[in-house]
Amino acid sequence: MINVTKTYLPDPEKYKSYVDRIFSSGWVTNNGQFVQELEKRLCEYLGVENLLLISNGTLALQVAYRALGISGEAITTPFSFVATASSLVWEGIQPVFADINPDSLNIAPEKIESLINNNTSAIVPVHVFGNACEIDAIERIAQNHNLKTIYDAAHAFGVHYKGKSILNYGDASILSFHGTKVFHTIEGGAIIFKDKKHLDAARLMINFGIPGYDQVSDLGINCKMNEFQAAMGLCVLDDMEFIHNSRKNVWEKYTDSFKSFRSVSLQKQNESSSLNYSYFPVILDSEDLLFKLRDALLQKDISPRRYFFPSLEQLPYVKSGQQVPVSASIAERILCLPIYPDLEPSVQDSIIETVSKIISTYG
Ligand SMILES: *Cc1c(COP(=O)(O)O)cnc(C)c1O
Repeated sequence: MINVTKTYLPDPEKYKSYVDRIFSSGWVTNNGQFVQELEKRLCEYLGVENLLLISNGTLALQVAYRALGISGEAITTPFSFVATASSLVWEGIQPVFADINPDSLNIAPEKIESLINNNTSAIVPVHVFGNACEIDAIERIAQNHNLKTIYDAAHAFGVHYKGKSILNYGDASILSFHGTKVFHTIEGGAIIFKDKKHLDAARLMINFGIPGYDQVSDLGINCKMNEFQAAMGLCVLDDMEFIHNSRKNVWEKYTDSFKSFRSVSLQKQNESSSLNYSYFPVILDSEDLLFKLRDALLQKDISPRRYFFPSLEQLPYVKSGQQVPVSASIAERILCLPIYPDLEPSVQDSIIETVSKIISTYG
């Protein structure tokens, strides 16, 4: 089966050499040498300061909300992976959904302001599929209303916006290093804070609020990254150029093939930002066409995925009662096609051919 993504695995001998060093030191977690090394190397690679490694991206979101003192309501996008909204609910924060722009698929800044009230404390935008949000407009709104911004940058590893890392905007950004993401540590994530004092608070939080022996100074949780995760990250980081270039080839071939198709539209990329080629979504004219395409691909053992479905205002536990028609409509008609470094050209040709056939027959 060809899946929508395939975890990039580095040279096993290299990973084993890290594992050997973990075994000989006997130190498996608690801010070990590889976690420290990965934090340092990621800061350099990404061009950021104040980066904290976390056991996964969802807890990175939750710890970021806590460290920044978010409560009440947060305005976010309905078009994202479920963790963007569920992490808010889990922290007792009500997600309020601003509809998206149908071209960029990101939160529409002009839909945010009317949703702000006295309970609003934050905006939680997502750089969906690695495509930069309208950051300047969002930051202006946040400043005018004294709100914090936490960017869910789970898809935006390595993306630059206006010449610097996209992770340097807002009060915090989070990354996910899950095995399905562009860069991974098996499971993992990170928070990048603007302000060092929030980093220090979060560092304490992820280790039970324990600053040292015989002390507990604050409420905390346990979501530290361990040494085996960090070792995977150090190996994968060495190969980022290969990963980036091979994804770029796949991405460009899809784009060239589909750009003349009626009945298929592609996400419009922010012109101020670089791309990381993390996903390849196609937006179809109808859900019916989506089902026809998915069935045709499944018959060839190719499994595309409905990212993201359903639109998050429809989650049973959110009880939003909100209507966000653009997101609801896009969520019904969008399908992500397989993209990963070693996707075979013949398989990609077959995917493109299938899309072409279905579109010309039913589109
Ligand atoms: C993957 C993802 C997350 C969650 O990250 P995990 O590391 O899987 O917990 C959060 N937000 C978005 C947009 C994601 O795609």
